[in-house]
Amino acid sequence: MEDCIFCKIINNEIPSSKVYEDDDILAFKDINPQAPVHIIVIPKKHIRNILELNDESLLAKIHRVIKKIVKEQNLEEQGFRLVTNTGEDGCQTVKHLHFHILGGIKLSENL
Ligand code: 5GP
Ligand code: ZN
Repeated sequence: MEDCIFCKIINNEIPSSKVYEDDDILAFKDINPQAPVHIIVIPKKHIRNILELNDESLLAKIHRVIKKIVKEQNLEEQGFRLVTNTGEDGCQTVKHLHFHILGGIKLSENL
């Protein structure tokens, strides 16, 4: 989609530090990390947010990728936070569905 930063990352119009890619999903390091591990997982299809995701098989694929990344980043034992900001009050700045994986440090109890 035009003017979507994450679509541009998918199309390699904007460089990113990729950690996973397949036909449907891309994961890359957040440009402004909020924790030692801060990875963004997105579907390649432009979907605005979790409410507009109607393909359960795609959600299952995203889940599988999240688990793989969590394992690779050694976050299983200590834990991590999975966040999908949605809409205005959720402070979603990029209107392309994405999941933040945050970890590698004891995170604040406050969001
Ligand atoms: P949101 O606030 O929408 O939940 O999260 C958007 C995230 O995308 C932010 O954490 C922000 O740092 C990240 N981000 C925005 N632009 C870019 C970019 O060009 N490259 C990368 N790697 N991350 C970006
Ligand atoms: Zn997009």
